[in-house]
Amino acid sequence: MENDIRQNLYYLRQFLWESLLFYIFILSLILLLPDKNISAGFLSFLFTVIYIIFLNFLGKHFRKGTEEIKKIIEGIRNNKFETSGEIVLHNHFPGLQEEIRLMFEKVKSDIDYLKKLEKMRSEFLANVSHELRTPIFSIQGYIETLLNGALEDEKVNRNFLEKANQNTINLNNLLNDLIDISMIETGEMRMSFRYFHVKEFIQEIIEEYQPVIEEKGLEFIFTLSRNGLQLYGDKSRLRQVLVNLIINAIKYTEKGKIEIVIEEEAKHGKIIVRDTGIGIPEGDLDRIFERFYRVDKARARNVGGTGLGLAIAKHIVEAHNSRIDVKSIVGEGTEFSFLLKK
Ligand code: ATP
Ligand code: MG
Repeated sequence: MENDIRQNLYYLRQFLWESLLFYIFILSLILLLPDKNISAGFLSFLFTVIYIIFLNFLGKHFRKGTEEIKKIIEGIRNNKFETSGEIVLHNHFPGLQEEIRLMFEKVKSDIDYLKKLEKMRSEFLANVSHELRTPIFSIQGYIETLLNGALEDEKVNRNFLEKANQNTINLNNLLNDLIDISMIETGEMRMSFRYFHVKEFIQEIIEEYQPVIEEKGLEFIFTLSRNGLQLYGDKSRLRQVLVNLIINAIKYTEKGKIEIVIEEEAKHGKIIVRDTGIGIPEGDLDRIFERFYRVDKARARNVGGTGLGLAIAKHIVEAHNSRIDVKSIVGEGTEFSFLLKK
């Protein structure tokens, strides 16, 4: 009992000075009382007893409240709560329950986010290892076969060397893509924005890829809204975007045509890459911009590609304060487009 009262009063220690001053003030009033019919000593004693009882109740209330808060914090620390609704404060400090619930939700969402990041990191590592292993195994295989005798076989030696060489090129492309991804993530991808002539920009790329398109028996069309059109952006990074879109169009189109169209709007130029290829199912449209995502893994293995191209392209276009749009109909074709400032 005595211990309890001491504990209750202990919780009021923050009001020590205020309660002491109040006590002294009332006591002085009693002692200065002009009416001496009632003994001042008795009154002081009565007041002191009532005052201590009052302080005890007040302290008890404080103590219960504080202990409840302590329990809730302990519960949060020990992951006792699943949802914020389970956090209930009976002793009301106005607004405190709501604040604790909000804090709980914030901490929970931060932890969920960290867990998601951790999962993405492991998946990324697993993907990278897998993608690195494929070309390295092939190179190893070809070299071993050559060393085991195929080197002297005129019918296959050149072919095996060419295949090994192609795999080193793939490996190099993959490493370059990985370097780009890591530069994007660390914010180190430097951009240098300038006005550039769209016609020359596209023509330089076409020179490189038109022969490949025609070799595949596809028609190629380039339409430009106006000869002198200039757009604003990082030319070499945009080249990377366009090259990936064009190579994708070539890889996934068996018949028909590939088109590059530049349209002009009031303040922007729109760059469109269109093909009449296999198309992308609606359910995959959102996901093709994820790292390593490929719609048909078996097919992608045949045509090559690791699924990093569009992830990088998306970041580059976003760094131009724009975004890549995609429309596609399975069996009819795909259209990628994005706006650039004029
Ligand atoms: P990488 O570009 O890294 O060499 P990739 O071309 O497979 O490999 P992305 O460019 O990111 O990867 O494309 C992701 C996936 O989106 C492709 O694997 C393919 O399934 C699908 N895709 C992209 N462009 C087209 C297209 N024009 N037609 C059909 N499918 C496409
Ligand atoms: Mg690609």
